[in-house]
Amino acid sequence: MPARSRLEVPRSEALHAEGRGLMPGGVSSPVRAYKAVGGTPLTIVSGSRARVTDADGHSYVDYVGAYGPLILGHAPLAVVEAIRNAAVRGTAYGAPTEGEIRLARLIASALPGVERVRFVVSGTEAAMTAARLARAATSRERIVAFEGGYHGHADSFLAKAGSGMLTLGIPASPGVTTATAGLTTLLPYNDAARLREFGRTRGREVAAVFVEPVAGNMGCIPPEPGFLEALREETSRWGALLVLDEVITGFRLAWGGWQVRAGIRPDLTLLGKVIGGGLPIAAVAGPAALMDRLAPEGPVYQAGTLSGNPIATAAGTATLEALRGAPPYEKLEARGRALAEGLREAAAGAGVEATVVQVGSLLTVFFCPGPVRDLPSASRSDRARFARFFHAMRERGVLLPPSPMECWFLSTAHGDTEIGETIAAAREAFKV
Ligand SMILES: *Cc1c(COP(=O)(O)O)cnc(C)c1O
Repeated sequence: MPARSRLEVPRSEALHAEGRGLMPGGVSSPVRAYKAVGGTPLTIVSGSRARVTDADGHSYVDYVGAYGPLILGHAPLAVVEAIRNAAVRGTAYGAPTEGEIRLARLIASALPGVERVRFVVSGTEAAMTAARLARAATSRERIVAFEGGYHGHADSFLAKAGSGMLTLGIPASPGVTTATAGLTTLLPYNDAARLREFGRTRGREVAAVFVEPVAGNMGCIPPEPGFLEALREETSRWGALLVLDEVITGFRLAWGGWQVRAGIRPDLTLLGKVIGGGLPIAAVAGPAALMDRLAPEGPVYQAGTLSGNPIATAAGTATLEALRGAPPYEKLEARGRALAEGLREAAAGAGVEATVVQVGSLLTVFFCPGPVRDLPSASRSDRARFARFFHAMRERGVLLPPSPMECWFLSTAHGDTEIGETIAAAREAFKV
């Protein structure tokens, strides 16, 4: 009796089993597979404001937030309307549109020094494009990035630090060539002294330094005072470009991005996530002198069938217009702080050693003593402890990103009710 077996297995689990027969791991992106926490990923059927609903009808306060884009929460009316209005006029044309111009203008108005924007489909492509552009502009080949940073999955960024004094990266994934990884150098985040030391001997080989101005892919780790300033100073001295990867932080931590808050002027900025309001779009942005090296204005090739897609630009424009119309950043900071403080108290009450790091609407609970300032310190977070916490929170109706080194993403839809529910759940979950 098939009807009965469907009742016995939760629908979310049955769907995941079916998906695994059709897609590697049953997912379209690996972190979704719950490898770090165990168990079966929930199949989500809908989202509304701060909550998502799974295939079994359970509702959760959602801190995954699609990993960053959903600063207004799920399905905000203005964005849904913009998508609807765009879709009925056609889904793609392979031609310039007014929608691209509107979104580019919003971005240029928010970021000092940005005169040109190239739209792409993903943050991966934005980083890949910036690397090519930087290599072309400097006639150099070396890329510098930081341990624990993430700039998408282009080969140049799937490198890890070599051992000892080796400054050449080694492949971080099978399939990445040693030649490509060898052109990438990984340095420790938040370590200006190490950066300067590297620069003295190798700085003049460097085309660009890529950095997340607030690290968001080893959990949330803010830059220490002077770190970004040292990066700006050193890259200028080397004749290298500074690329701020604001794919998470752009329009999330401030109108424009962290660079506006910190007063750091990069050579190129990478944007994604929030600028698409949940649809696939990302961008490289910078001054005309650099950006006009891109085809067709210049010789550096880059292209995309669905780049600047009219539905994506409509969703992004609606999102940015909402943020500009009623800047939520102070409110998000206050809510983030209230959540962080509640979580700290809950952990202390349960006798759990936790370090809660929060910057605006980004937050991570590290299950280790502080300070957390780089990849080695973040990696001390107790993975087994996090896995128990994750599942205990899920059972209590709170969905967290399923990895101990991931940011929780707050949205403007996370109100006092959701924050309160989350802290109440954490009081119990820390004890599990
Ligand atoms: C998500 C992310 C990327 C990659 O963006 P995709 O759209 O997933 O390719 C790049 N950089 C940072 C900082 C990110 O968080």
